[in-house]
Amino acid sequence: MKHQIFKSTDTNVSKFVFEKESTDTDKAIAVEAVLYRYNSYRERTVICCSTQCGCPVGCTFCGTGKFFIRNLTATEIVEQVDTVLKYIDCPTEEIRKFQIMFMSMGEPFLNYKAMEEAIIILSGKYPNAQLLVSTSGPLGQIFWNFDKFITLSIQHKQVGIQFSVHESNDESRARLIPTSTTSLQSIGYLGEKWAESTGRKPFFNYCVHSGNSSQQNITELLDNFNPNIWECTLSVICEKDNSMKNEIEKQIDLIQDFANRMTNAGYSIRVFNPAGQDDIGGGCGQLWYFQQWLNQQKRKQ
Ligand code: SF4
Repeated sequence: MKHQIFKSTDTNVSKFVFEKESTDTDKAIAVEAVLYRYNSYRERTVICCSTQCGCPVGCTFCGTGKFFIRNLTATEIVEQVDTVLKYIDCPTEEIRKFQIMFMSMGEPFLNYKAMEEAIIILSGKYPNAQLLVSTSGPLGQIFWNFDKFITLSIQHKQVGIQFSVHESNDESRARLIPTSTTSLQSIGYLGEKWAESTGRKPFFNYCVHSGNSSQQNITELLDNFNPNIWECTLSVICEKDNSMKNEIEKQIDLIQDFANRMTNAGYSIRVFNPAGQDDIGGGCGQLWYFQQWLNQQKRKQ
């Protein structure tokens, strides 16, 4: 695939856009991957790669979720990672904390077979990389494939899982993720099953805003996510038509206060700060280049 690089003013973040022409059998695609450096690539390198072109899930805050082109092949997923890694300044085996995340564009469990194949290839090529799958838990596919995913996670100890939870009850979550996803209770069950089978902790991701950060929300989270089993990542909602920078600044106090109360409730918390992405659109739903490309495809239809 041909690629272009979009550098953020924050030199620690670069976005890669990959494009491929249509063939007799496959539709044209554009997908994006993001490369993060924390202090140095040697200290910590994080890559987010795409598993689908567009996404059928349709999360309301996501600019890529309004249109779906096609699933990526395992080769196309791996190619994003291999290409991005050509731009770092140290051998991959010397990276101290190395994370490859399946979370840029697409729902990995809707393209399970290719994602599994890509994980097997990447775990062989980059044995020191953690391979983190981020899922909304699409109804049906998550259950049909979860036993296979557990087996994969047992065989490849670098594999981790994060569920995009974002709200503390199913009603609010359904407004954010309009297509069918499994219930929070079922996500809680799947995570516990995965933890029991692998001996590792699953993550849930929660986008904090003024409407979901009360004590009642924490009580609801505790009903389904046992803090002895789950790790929690807090982040900001990345409104597709908002400057992420403004959004972070507005919400930083809110997130900090919520993080303190979640810690008091027993959770181990990390706060994801998508710094530097606001000028390139690096976050999920902020993929500006892809949104322009998508609009061109829509006009062609
Ligand atoms: S946030 Fe992720 S799962 Fe939701 S529509 Fe966007 S790419 Fe798909």
